[in-house]
Amino acid sequence: MIPVVKGWFTETSIEVASLGIQVHGGMGYIEETGAAQYYRDARITTIYEGTTSIQANDLVGRKIAREAGATAKAVIKDMKATLRALKAVEGEDFAAMARHLAAGAKAVEQCVGWIVDTYATDIKAVHAGSVPFLKLMGIVAGGWQMARAALAAQAKVAKGEGDAGFLTAKIATARFFADHYLAQAPGLRETVTGGAAGVMALAAEQF
Ligand SMILES: Cc1cc2nc3c(=O)[nH]c(=O)nc-3n(C[C@H](O)[C@H](O)[C@H](O)COP(=O)(O)OP(=O)(O)OC[C@H]3O[C@@H](n4cnc5c(N)ncnc54)[C@H](O)[C@@H]3O)c2cc1C
Repeated sequence: MIPVVKGWFTETSIEVASLGIQVHGGMGYIEETGAAQYYRDARITTIYEGTTSIQANDLVGRKIAREAGATAKAVIKDMKATLRALKAVEGEDFAAMARHLAAGAKAVEQCVGWIVDTYATDIKAVHAGSVPFLKLMGIVAGGWQMARAALAAQAKVAKGEGDAGFLTAKIATARFFADHYLAQAPGLRETVTGGAAGVMALAAEQF
């Protein structure tokens, strides 16, 4: 998970800081409000924390292909245990989370299989898809952890414990993440497993 934590979190921090500018409109863009400084500070993290493509190369190569996906498969098994727990809870929020986590875990599983199978015969194709795979892994692992938080919140709500406003907000944000981010997983799978042709198409002198 180290390349995922370093690569996906830092890429996401740029997106979050950029949204921070956007929601404040023109006031967000000008330096005096400070929002632009957060964006600039976030922007360096994908470079000096180890660049995103180097993290992604580590993920597909040393972390997955080298051990034939053993750890990744164990993580997918844990995701499926959370999936079963989601399916056991009633309500549309948990059904939506289960639907998107099922598709996400399947996308990760298919990519891990493809990475392991392809690494020995077409290493360039695997590395061409490494950054989209890093993003896929981050989104699915993120959605998985959000789902675990939602399940913990739901257990408290059912017992009438804790701060109901905080707990229902936790469930709502997990649902939002599932609908808006986890839902991207099947598309990323297509880029990982089928995106190499465009990456490799041009000769060096064509750039
Ligand atoms: C403000 C700042 C503070 C820093 N502080 C430290 C520090 O405290 N300690 C320290 O050790 N270093 C530090 N660094 C250096 C940092 O580790 C490097 O900037 C970083 O490793 C990236 O190397 P590079 O800048 O030479 O980029 P390059 O290696 O030239 O990379 C350029 C681009 O090409 C991509 N790329 C390179 N090789 C490959 C490849 N094989 N496959 C695919 N893509 C590739 C990279 O992902 C990147 O997008 C700092 C840098 C900055 C800017």
